Amino acid sequence: MTTNFLLVGAGLSSAVIGRHLAEAGHKVTIFEGRDHIGGNCHTERDAETGVMVHIYGPHIFHTDDEEVWNYVNSFETFLPYKNRVKTTSQGAVYSLPINLHTINQFYGKTMRPDEARAFIEQQADTSIENPQTFEEQALRFVGPDLYEAFFKGYTMKQWGCHPSELPASILKRLPVRFNYDDNYFFHKFQGMPENGYTAMIEKILDHTNIEVRLSTMFDSATTEGYDHVFYSGPLDGYFGYKLGRLGYRTLDFEKFTDTGDYQGTAVMNYGDVDVPFTRITEHKHFSPWEEHEGTVCYREFSREAQPEDTPYYPIRMMDEKTLLADYVRLANETPNVTFVGRLGTYRYLDMDVTIREALDTARQFSDCLTNGAAM
Ligand code: UDP
Repeated sequence: MTTNFLLVGAGLSSAVIGRHLAEAGHKVTIFEGRDHIGGNCHTERDAETGVMVHIYGPHIFHTDDEEVWNYVNSFETFLPYKNRVKTTSQGAVYSLPINLHTINQFYGKTMRPDEARAFIEQQADTSIENPQTFEEQALRFVGPDLYEAFFKGYTMKQWGCHPSELPASILKRLPVRFNYDDNYFFHKFQGMPENGYTAMIEKILDHTNIEVRLSTMFDSATTEGYDHVFYSGPLDGYFGYKLGRLGYRTLDFEKFTDTGDYQGTAVMNYGDVDVPFTRITEHKHFSPWEEHEGTVCYREFSREAQPEDTPYYPIRMMDEKTLLADYVRLANETPNVTFVGRLGTYRYLDMDVTIREALDTARQFSDCLTNGAAM
């Protein structure tokens, strides 16, 4: 039996779920409020320089999940790319994530791995047994000097609050290495789609059973005729914010162009709190296999999202847990709607995890349908 699905949002979650359901013979309609697909992974060529730009900020694909890696590669060629981030702090440039080079440069030493490990353990606050906040996590694992130089100012700019109000999980995204490996990620697979993420998502959505309606807003009154909805918009937005607003950060980008090479790397972070932006991204370095005379850069400013702004990062302040739990309860009680993705579940998800969850959700659904179980 054919089932009609309505998917809200045309980002990664909807594309992957939609494709799976379409291949299983179901009808999929996708409502996308913007005039393009791809969600915040959207890429397009800059009209002036021809450089492929990550319009909503840098997205680097990295995963340990072989099935997810094979999945994305079946739609688009991924070319080798290693994310090597630099940071400017207190008048010097350092390598991130914190590695042996960063530590030796910062302390003016020539330590070998074991020496550096013992040295950093001396800096660390070992009285913190079970770090709960971002600040505790930093003080426990790198100590106050590195925390102040690389994390405190950047994090206050990025999240708009003190690191003691943020969960440790945000910092746990970053490793500390006692060798010279400066690869930002430690996953087995890492790369960039040759023609950008939007080209990849376009191919995922290219199926006769999928119809995408751009510039089409969703409201819960428009679900008639659909058997089930997958909703990848903001969780609190679905319920008209009736319990209050979950906090999001939004980003403002200040674009500028130049010739040649502006900063010599794709991402330069700025750790000092008196520099108003968090980082500058130079997009031609995300596609090192292409050649362009011009270059396009974006200064990235983070601020609290207002109702009319694009939500980027779910903040998940320590004191927001109850509100989130109440929305999750409402979501679980809503029949025929599944909440998916970064905004739909209010979690800081990487692309590979988003795809993994979307594949699992879609499979679970088509299995239920095949077995005649209730959705
Ligand atoms: N972070 C920091 N300084 C840096 C880079 C990251 O303090 O130079 C912190 C910051 O709070 C950030 C978090 O570590 O939100 C996770 O960093 P990641 O690079 O994963 O952030 P994203 O690229 O997703 O914005």
